[in-house]
Amino acid sequence: MEIPKFLVERYQFWKKNTFQNYKNIYQQATETQQKPIAMIITCCDSRILENTIFCGSVGDFFIHRNIANIVPSKNDKKQNIQTLSAIEYALKVLKIPNLIILGHSNCGGVEYFYKSMKDNKNKNNFEYINKWVTCLENSYKKIPNDISESKKITVFEQENIKESIKNLLEYEFIGKLIDENKLNIIGLWYQIDTGLIKFLNKKNIFTDLD
Ligand SMILES: [Zn+2]
Repeated sequence: MEIPKFLVERYQFWKKNTFQNYKNIYQQATETQQKPIAMIITCCDSRILENTIFCGSVGDFFIHRNIANIVPSKNDKKQNIQTLSAIEYALKVLKIPNLIILGHSNCGGVEYFYKSMKDNKNKNNFEYINKWVTCLENSYKKIPNDISESKKITVFEQENIKESIKNLLEYEFIGKLIDENKLNIIGLWYQIDTGLIKFLNKKNIFTDLD
């Protein structure tokens, strides 16, 4: 196994610059248990820089990523173990008070499922992805017919965030934390090319954050 040059160079740059400048913060972060201000569940997409967008520092955000930022339903026993174990640790052990579902524009996972449903084509031979994206079935059904194709994808991405939040509420320990006012769930949709973020308001409608 070879260590690629880009890794070494980038690491050395970080160690000499960022780490050097924030050395104290890094050291202090190990003196007590981590205490993140929020858990963020987002997509694996390389263009989602959640720590950059929300000015994250060491210990601020507890991150879980999966294809298309999905929280599977409680009934989806085969699919939910990974994501739910991250959530369980975040809420039961770290007692993080905010849980953010951060979806995004141009989501390859959402688009893949959309196209495979719409064209009724045989899906690619993706052994794992094909199983995982079946979690998107319910939100797919909520896409209205009378809007343009590009809008349909955006609506699908946003419905997927709503569905993930709905699914979160199925888990008793999460519902209990909300009832006790110990947990705030936040739905966000991020548009990569414009930097726009929309949040899910109390009426369950996506509204500009700024
Ligand atoms: Zn994505």
